[in-house]
Amino acid sequence: MPVIDLRSDTVTQPTPAMRQAMQAAPLGDDVYGEDPSVNQLQEYLAAELGFASALFVPTGTMSNLLGLMAHCERGDEYIVGQQAHTYKYEGGGAAVLGSIQPQPIDGEADGSLDLAKVAAAIKQDDFHFARTRLLALENTMQGKVLPLSYLQAARAFTRERGLGLHLDGARLYNAAVKLAVPAREITQHFDSVSVCLSKGLGAPIGSVLCGSAELIDKARRLRKMVGGGMRQAGGLAAAGLYALKHQVERLAEDHANAERLAAGLTELGYSVEPVQTNMVYVQIGDQAQALKAFAAARGIVLSAAPRLRMVTHLDVSSAEIDQVVAAFAEFRQN
Ligand SMILES: *Cc1c(COP(=O)(O)O)cnc(C)c1O
Repeated sequence: MPVIDLRSDTVTQPTPAMRQAMQAAPLGDDVYGEDPSVNQLQEYLAAELGFASALFVPTGTMSNLLGLMAHCERGDEYIVGQQAHTYKYEGGGAAVLGSIQPQPIDGEADGSLDLAKVAAAIKQDDFHFARTRLLALENTMQGKVLPLSYLQAARAFTRERGLGLHLDGARLYNAAVKLAVPAREITQHFDSVSVCLSKGLGAPIGSVLCGSAELIDKARRLRKMVGGGMRQAGGLAAAGLYALKHQVERLAEDHANAERLAAGLTELGYSVEPVQTNMVYVQIGDQAQALKAFAAARGIVLSAAPRLRMVTHLDVSSAEIDQVVAAFAEFRQN
């Protein structure tokens, strides 16, 4: 039975054409800076997003960590959303490894951080306090796209307050495709951006940190320190480059499938949150475990959560979305 896995967009398999690109990639030792495929990926993405430099790393967690550590010294602080990935889902790495104090604040319904709340969280220059250095945003934030006008305001605000601005852009391209703008329209507002190649873009592994030459030089040193200096990594970089060249536009299909799923479940009477990109959140309540087991018996892999997240991606077709809706309908009748 073919499996429909909606837990995350990280579960995709490399396509045959991507595997071919990986196979054909010229290789070298990237710790010496000599892997042509890694260099090509880094140069491509830096140019596309409007940065001087870029660094290929194994994971988004490492990319964010290096970004935060490149901005902040020991005893500095970054302001971040309570639900942000860097704060909540990365093992506290910035604090553990970077001695960077997070200052979390509640996020807004649209995924943004209220700049008045950010302003109130900035510490005065006083030796009692950590030094507030950086604001970190996330886009998309649980599937929500931050408005361009907000990004512009966040840029102006951080400039005025002397803060750096980092973007966890794990799903940057979902945001760009949704807004129908070049990704650069989003990234131009930031000092550093982390992009995941292994989410909706469909590469098996890898993230890229983009920033100034100085920031990326610092991040490269830190990458070595945390064990992220890879050698003949070009096969992986080639997968990422292939994804960036061939699998960005198709994210619109994932967004359409997410809307299709949301519409189907709404029709069945489920409470579904508005969908913007490739994530569907639906209230399942205390049925979460039962639903997971029911779906699994029908080849559908779900998480078990009262507020269930389902994520569309390149290995889920619209016909399979209809199968999922049918399974929910059957479950609801039982
Ligand atoms: C997945 C994800 C990351 C981290 O990526 P990994 O490659 O899993 O370490 C960072 N931020 C967001 C928003 C993510 O969804």
